[in-house]
Amino acid sequence: MMQQQMRTIYSQLGITEEVYAFGAKIEADLKERFAAIDAMAEWNQLKVIRAMQENRVSAECFNHTSGYGYNDLGRDTLEKVYASCFRGEDALVRPQITCGTHALALALMSNLRPGDELLSPVGKPYDTLEEVIGIRPSKGSLAEYGVTYRQVDLLADGGFDYDKIKKTISAKTKLVTIQRSKGYATRPTLSVAKIGELIAFIKKIKPDVICMVDNCYGEFVEEREPLEVGADMIVGSLIKNPGGGLAPIGGYIVGKKECVENAAYRLTSPGLGKEVGASLGVIQSFYQGFFLAPTVVAGALKGAVFAANIFERLGCEVVPNGSESRHDIIQAVAFQNPDALIAFCEGIQAAAPVDSYVTPEPWAMPGYDSDVIMAAGAFVQGSSIELSADGPLKPPYAAYFQGGLTWYHAKFGILKSLQNLKDRNLVKIGVL
Ligand SMILES: *Cc1c(COP(=O)(O)O)cnc(C)c1O
Repeated sequence: MMQQQMRTIYSQLGITEEVYAFGAKIEADLKERFAAIDAMAEWNQLKVIRAMQENRVSAECFNHTSGYGYNDLGRDTLEKVYASCFRGEDALVRPQITCGTHALALALMSNLRPGDELLSPVGKPYDTLEEVIGIRPSKGSLAEYGVTYRQVDLLADGGFDYDKIKKTISAKTKLVTIQRSKGYATRPTLSVAKIGELIAFIKKIKPDVICMVDNCYGEFVEEREPLEVGADMIVGSLIKNPGGGLAPIGGYIVGKKECVENAAYRLTSPGLGKEVGASLGVIQSFYQGFFLAPTVVAGALKGAVFAANIFERLGCEVVPNGSESRHDIIQAVAFQNPDALIAFCEGIQAAAPVDSYVTPEPWAMPGYDSDVIMAAGAFVQGSSIELSADGPLKPPYAAYFQGGLTWYHAKFGILKSLQNLKDRNLVKIGVL
């Protein structure tokens, strides 16, 4: 009876019997993968609860504060929760940190001084950091303040170029930035274990260098976070994984006391540091989002694995592939055809709880050298822990797709995309 009802409601939402059955077959083959993702969510859920209990989170922590925000119990306790959970000495978790780029810029600018050198041993960092560092000349960049930058690219096989890294580390090297997620590049995402190997190598050459990890999209995907394998500082956005879809803004820095302190004095002011910064009305959403984050991330991961397997079966190149282990929540699908990319993104949009009736259009987004199409029907604007997709309209016509506050929504979005592709004769659902 339930099966029949399910088919009926999918059909009411535009999913044909054929597409539904195709998805069901793929899903049935993913039982073991999904069980492993659920076990990871259970582990990380308990880590979050333990951190909240250890730090005596109470109802008073949810009170609104305004003005200077002195003695903001909710803010101070939340920072302890993040520090406990992610295994740092201290944390800065603030609505005044506006996004991931801001958190990363803050961590870098507060821990580097004129004459210091920054090193990326994992190739070019995320696009927005190019202007922070000054790779692309920009007002207020680190380069303007006399901080130099060196980069060592990954080897062709995705491995670390240890020889070159060793040669590039000098007396000036103060901070090493390691991006965990591939972001929108084609290199592999780094596992926490791999990050640990890289940090061990670097610290052997120069023990006092600060190792920072851009942790965006990686939180709660694995059983450990980078601070547990030697990183000094991890940095991320609250409208991605750790905000659990509820945080409406914010960023975090967790790690060594001194690194966090430097960041706090830069965020507010020398002399003030962590003591000011009212949490206004958002603090409960930070707690509750962090509490939900492990299961939200699990839903997003299931969606990514499901999409990889569906589109791999249909002959698309998918990164990571359908069976690889996962270290972040991003899934790339290369369609080799602009119409297919557009149909995919329209499907994601049409499945959204918000703005499902609008049609995304490719547009000339600042900073990109081709038109970009974006799909998102999110509760929090720009949130990419919610189901979202985007892709530049140029070969290989790849959609980068991530998020989904629940697995069921992610699944529906992928089926809707598949339906769109099928209705426009852009894919053939073969015999399984
Ligand atoms: C999203 C992201 C950023 C930047 O975060 P914004 O919130 O978009 O500014 C930086 N690095 C990586 C790897 C990211 O995924």
